[in-house]
Amino acid sequence: MVSEQELKEYCLLLRTENISIDDFRAWVVKSGIELKGDVTRGDFLKLKNGSVTQVLKILSKLVTSCDRCAGVYNQKVFSSRSEFENCLSAIEKACSQGVFNSISKPSWFDTLDKVKFGVEDYYMCDNCHSQWCIVFPEKEFNGEWERIS
Ligand SMILES: [Zn+2]
Repeated sequence: MVSEQELKEYCLLLRTENISIDDFRAWVVKSGIELKGDVTRGDFLKLKNGSVTQVLKILSKLVTSCDRCAGVYNQKVFSSRSEFENCLSAIEKACSQGVFNSISKPSWFDTLDKVKFGVEDYYMCDNCHSQWCIVFPEKEFNGEWERIS
């Protein structure tokens, strides 16, 4: 059985593009991740056959982020422009305190998985290396704050 530590290591390797999605899938098949607890059958099939975004989404569910970055702002689709502004200032503050580093869009991030609304910014936690994305408002959409890996 695969330990959370091993999963985390592979997640980081994939995130930082030290291994390819094909390497990762080969590992998933070989590792014999147990289909109980946190990994459902649907998750397992996505780990084997899904896009990198789907794979990292599942890994982000299994491998939690640290309190520092999770505490910056709750993940959500904003219900108002002011909520977006509040989140943006929380992120700016977190950047100035060294919690987040601004990063360019990860090359594995397949936006085809999502409806593309417009401008997005990406951040990486300096402590746990979780990656986060803020989507800017566009028309009736108020933006979103989401951990993407
Ligand atoms: Zn973190």
